[in-house]
Amino acid sequence: MKHKQVFNQMSPYKPGKQVEEVKKELGLDRIVKLASNENPFGYSEKVDQVVTESANHFEIYPDGYATVLRDVISTDLAVDFDQLVFGCGSDEVIDIICRVYLEKGTNTIMATPTFPQYKHNALIQGADIKEVPLLNGYHDLQGMLDVIDDDTRVIWLCSPNNPTGCIINQPSLERFLEVVPEDIIVVMDEAYYEYINRDDAPDSLSYINTYPNLVVLRTFSKAYGLAGLRVGFGVCDLAVANVLNIARGPFNTTKLAQFAATEAYRDQEFIKRTVSETIKNKQTFIQFLDEMELDYYDSETNFVLVKLPVSGDELFDYLLSKGFIIRSGEALGIPNSVRITIGEKTDMDMMQQHIRTFL
Ligand code: PMP
Repeated sequence: MKHKQVFNQMSPYKPGKQVEEVKKELGLDRIVKLASNENPFGYSEKVDQVVTESANHFEIYPDGYATVLRDVISTDLAVDFDQLVFGCGSDEVIDIICRVYLEKGTNTIMATPTFPQYKHNALIQGADIKEVPLLNGYHDLQGMLDVIDDDTRVIWLCSPNNPTGCIINQPSLERFLEVVPEDIIVVMDEAYYEYINRDDAPDSLSYINTYPNLVVLRTFSKAYGLAGLRVGFGVCDLAVANVLNIARGPFNTTKLAQFAATEAYRDQEFIKRTVSETIKNKQTFIQFLDEMELDYYDSETNFVLVKLPVSGDELFDYLLSKGFIIRSGEALGIPNSVRITIGEKTDMDMMQQHIRTFL
């Protein structure tokens, strides 16, 4: 069997420590996972109701065009019905973009560090990767423009950026879109869009009509709390959406996921509560970091990347022994740091006490 060469340098995705695994290892009853930026407040109660009552007949394939979900979201976002592309998580939309636009001889530009799936999927397609280091957690947009060449096909912007949490503001995005050649796809990954709390954040969707090369990505995995169901989507120009929809699997979002996402989207009150609790708890956490004289990146999302005087692995191991799973920055490409998802107040208080003791 002769697979593509590139697979010799790659390894399968292995999730970080899972709650059940840690429970067993440590013999603890309760483990708090603050590692994957999930929603500690769960998801809208209305989702359980509709899933119990309506999601049935699993012997029948789902609606491959996710018509109801598509209708609800496109109406709310004031875009055309056909401008959406759904995926099994935005992970899948990223993969589809790579399959459509990248191949050997092309290249793609992204920040580093950023969300690793851009590079992962681009490598599989045989594209060259051009990584432009962040500037204090922010995208170096001029640096990205400087490395564009005739073979560039896709540029990835992640705002808020995972793992730093920093956003690209409106004037910067506008200027960037103005100068990027229009045959290059610009992906604005807004997986954490709902948490942004800054006046200078762009309304990215408003640029789609002017810049038909722009694809905005959103997900149900973060503020909507449906990570386990796997639904994400892209919003873009009709012509781009058409091609992406050709390339996706015919039934790539499940019936259960479509029902749940539709109901979750309708319950914007839940999102408001999630976001306001998260921002409150983040402010308390940041106050704690200030008191501890620990530096951190500007975060417009539900996690904070904290700079440490020790390696991230050391704090990771210590907190794990106390029943808290976080992410060590060593694994994320930022040594001496940890990325911590903002959790519920009592859990955050407890974790802060442990950090205080450790440092
Ligand atoms: N983009 C970013 C920036 C992310 O952090 C994540 C999840 N960690 C994703 C995309 C993928 O999310 P999902 O596939 O769950 O929609």
